[in-house]
Amino acid sequence: MSAPGGRLSTGRSADVAVIGGGLAGLCAAIAAAKHGLRVVVVRRGLGTTAMSSGGLDFPADLPRLYGAGVGGPGVSSAATSEAAGTLGDWLRAAGAELRGRPGEEMLLLDTAGDVRRTNLALVQHAAGSVERWSGQGGKLLLLGVAGYPSFRPEWVRRRVVAAGLLPAERVAAGRVTVPGLKDEGDLPAARLARALEVPDTAKAFASAVGRAAREAGASHVALPPVLGLEKASEVFRWVTEAVAAHAPVAVFELLSPPPSVPGQRLQDLLDRVAVAAGVEIASGRVTGAALEAAPEPAEGPENLASVTVESQGRNWTLSAREFILATGKYAAGGLDAGGLAVAEPVFGLAVFVPPPPGWPSAELPAGQRLVREMVYDRFAARHPVFEAGLAVDWGLRPLGGDGRTPRFANLRAAGSVLGGYNHFADGAGSGVAVVTGLEAGRLAAEAASASEKGEAPAGAGAATPETGAGAATPETGAVGREPA
Ligand SMILES: Cc1cc2nc3c(=O)[nH]c(=O)nc-3n(C[C@H](O)[C@H](O)[C@H](O)COP(=O)(O)OP(=O)(O)OC[C@H]3O[C@@H](n4cnc5c(N)ncnc54)[C@H](O)[C@@H]3O)c2cc1C
Repeated sequence: MSAPGGRLSTGRSADVAVIGGGLAGLCAAIAAAKHGLRVVVVRRGLGTTAMSSGGLDFPADLPRLYGAGVGGPGVSSAATSEAAGTLGDWLRAAGAELRGRPGEEMLLLDTAGDVRRTNLALVQHAAGSVERWSGQGGKLLLLGVAGYPSFRPEWVRRRVVAAGLLPAERVAAGRVTVPGLKDEGDLPAARLARALEVPDTAKAFASAVGRAAREAGASHVALPPVLGLEKASEVFRWVTEAVAAHAPVAVFELLSPPPSVPGQRLQDLLDRVAVAAGVEIASGRVTGAALEAAPEPAEGPENLASVTVESQGRNWTLSAREFILATGKYAAGGLDAGGLAVAEPVFGLAVFVPPPPGWPSAELPAGQRLVREMVYDRFAARHPVFEAGLAVDWGLRPLGGDGRTPRFANLRAAGSVLGGYNHFADGAGSGVAVVTGLEAGRLAAEAASASEKGEAPAGAGAATPETGAGAATPETGAVGREPA
């Protein structure tokens, strides 16, 4: 962190500054902007939201995150449902339809032939839930696109049959071409998706799909997720309407492993909702922070004054009343596992990891304990490295190395930078990002408004670890690293 100093006068300012612009950061930013505040999101690029499959893993109850409140008694199923409803309303306003409910299982096939358990999805994916095509007496046609190698319909057909989802006579495979696109053998999904945003191209493609469905006698047609990016809702409508003119079939899109058009769509939809709500999105990497100058040594956590943003070789500062850290996990850069221990690179916050079962907490230094456990002890089970992350208090403020007190009074955290859950094993990635993002945005907005009026911000007290603290406290063997 850069040297403490007074409030910086150069650069930009906001009421709420959000670091990271994935699902969690954007939910936080939109929620804060809807309180009428000036919100700036700084992001260095796209994170894992843009790589996600198109299925939003959203349990009815959040897993228990590290710290007090969240995922414990603090988040009820009603609050989780409300958060999913808010997301659905926002996406609808941007022209997309979200289907499903938190906790209700939705089984969707992906382009690799794996069946994914998830909970929410846009309508073009939800229309293909496994029970829709496996239970009835119809026939599934898996249709690839000529020149697009990332979806091999024959291979997925074999997997569907091998998994017992359908008998061989009820699943067929074929290919269609996208008019105007030369079969170069390695067309990227995004290029196909953009080509299909031209209405005439989409309609000609849909006619070919409709003819193939009629010839195969199919009741359901599965396509790779290439039906548009920004105009995905329109393209899906054009295609389903044009196919219906040829054959009475249900068309749907498969989910996708990364790189993922469905993930890019979700990211793009949220970007549009954020911009419509008045959020400013700036490109850049936050590299450090300055503290607010205290008139006299004060008790309790310090206040952040500004963050330093590096963008295209230039540095600028962003000052704000409240800050939200939503920098994701390893793939996005929110956590760094490059050395022996896991680090949080922007603020040097304490990172907590699950204690190895039966190990005395003080036996090994943090880094060695983590590495030894990763490599030798639980490699094949729930991998502790995915549960590493920040612990927070009831106000979502990251705790210091003591595992009890917030490190900064005006910093909250949301999304996958938080620790205590494994988004692969717990099926909770999107749910945690949305619920904690909305909550961090609301709390930050309330605190920023209160500080403008000179009132004490709500929830300014210390953490209450006695009332439901998560698994990663020092007493239970957490590994806390004092901030650098
Ligand atoms: C490969 C992969 C696939 C996944 N698929 C799914 C799925 O299909 N369904 C599901 O529910 N969950 C999935 N997840 C879990 C996923 O991480 C969450 O669902 C959710 O999208 C995470 O959102 P987030 O906002 O916390 O992080 P991210 O979307 O990763 O966003 C982090 C943001 O922080 C920015 N950032 C990082 N460091 C800085 C910095 N120093 N300065 C400025 N900006 C910074 C990044 O550029 C990015 O904008 C997947 C995870 C991975 C790794």
